Amino acid sequence: MPGFELFGDKERKELNDVLDNGVLMRYGFDGMRKGHWKAKALETELENQLQVKHAQLVSSGTAAVSVAMVSAGIGAGDEVIMPTFTFVASFEAIMMLGAIPVLVDIDDTLTLCPKAVENAITSKTKAVMPVHMCGSMANLEALQAICRKHNLILIEDSSQATGATYKGKPLGSIGDLGCLSLDFVKIITAGEGGAVLTNNETYYKHADHYSDHGHDHKGNDRGAETHPFLGYNFRISELHAAVGLAQLRRLDEFVAIQKKNYTIIREALSQIPEVTFRTVPEGGEESYSFLSFFLPDLETSRKVIQAFKENSIDACWNYYDNNWHYIRKWEHLKTLKTLYPLSTEVKEGLEYVKSQTFEQSDHYIGRNISCLIKLSWTEEEVIKRANKMVKAITSVL
Ligand SMILES: *Cc1c(COP(=O)(O)O)cnc(C)c1O
Repeated sequence: MPGFELFGDKERKELNDVLDNGVLMRYGFDGMRKGHWKAKALETELENQLQVKHAQLVSSGTAAVSVAMVSAGIGAGDEVIMPTFTFVASFEAIMMLGAIPVLVDIDDTLTLCPKAVENAITSKTKAVMPVHMCGSMANLEALQAICRKHNLILIEDSSQATGATYKGKPLGSIGDLGCLSLDFVKIITAGEGGAVLTNNETYYKHADHYSDHGHDHKGNDRGAETHPFLGYNFRISELHAAVGLAQLRRLDEFVAIQKKNYTIIREALSQIPEVTFRTVPEGGEESYSFLSFFLPDLETSRKVIQAFKENSIDACWNYYDNNWHYIRKWEHLKTLKTLYPLSTEVKEGLEYVKSQTFEQSDHYIGRNISCLIKLSWTEEEVIKRANKMVKAITSVL
């Protein structure tokens, strides 16, 4: 990760097809486009590769989460359970709808703790959204069982784990709905873009119409389309889809490179008795876009990050004090700083974020270091890096 490291002729060819015919819009313009339908082709290939009946491309991963929720009828006052360790996009996408994000603890998988999910369920809960952070996954079987028992919708955010599988199934295809991001730093990138995945016909139809102003997409005459319900514009452009298409065709190649690089570093770190690795649920296969490991305590993690810096080992993070990915530093959420008035229901629903502590999450995030696995490293560079990491870690233990 990220896919932009290996841009080449394939991306250029797809992009030039679009520029040559001048149709940047994903719908209509049938005559002008000379048979080039990049968004449609990307949707079909996503469906095949991710083994899901329907893929609906949208303008971003954040949009994918909002569109997925709207498609399942989630809105004002509904509660959605999500993890404390994610990207700010997760609660933004929920709050956009007037719904209430209910953040709960993670466990040693670095994503939703099933017990914490169960404890947070109320009569307002509509959905559970695991976020498969850093290339690996939540215990989906446990979450599916909870959702079935309480009649909740399971929405996977697999923005950071495209290419990973659970019990043989691609992440994003397992829940009622799945969300992908194709943004500039993801394993396959379109610059900006995202996708909603689902096997549910109704959710798919909703996502298809809603993301394009509620147009019903019936027939070939755009002007004659009707609006079964109100929508919005969350469309992707043909330019973005073209790049995404070339990148998706390289996903297996990217995962294989990551696995090779990840394995070299993991084997090196395994020699250090104090280092343990993030738990991957049984039957899970990572995308290998990050290597995440635990140290004995927060103090050691901080010292190791410092030692990495001093030794020019880049792209490794301890998220404890990170204000993009972890609840501790989300001051804007805790103080509910919005540019627009919030409903009383949302304000009351979010009262808890001001004061609640998350010791279990702090425990795992404090001890965790996650390192990005790059696609462009040579084998020599990976081996050198692994050795430098071992040296830096042992120097502070
Ligand atoms: C990147 C990301 C998103 C949002 O994707 P965008 O395409 O940047 O809007 C959502 N969730 C997670 C976990 C992400 O990493």
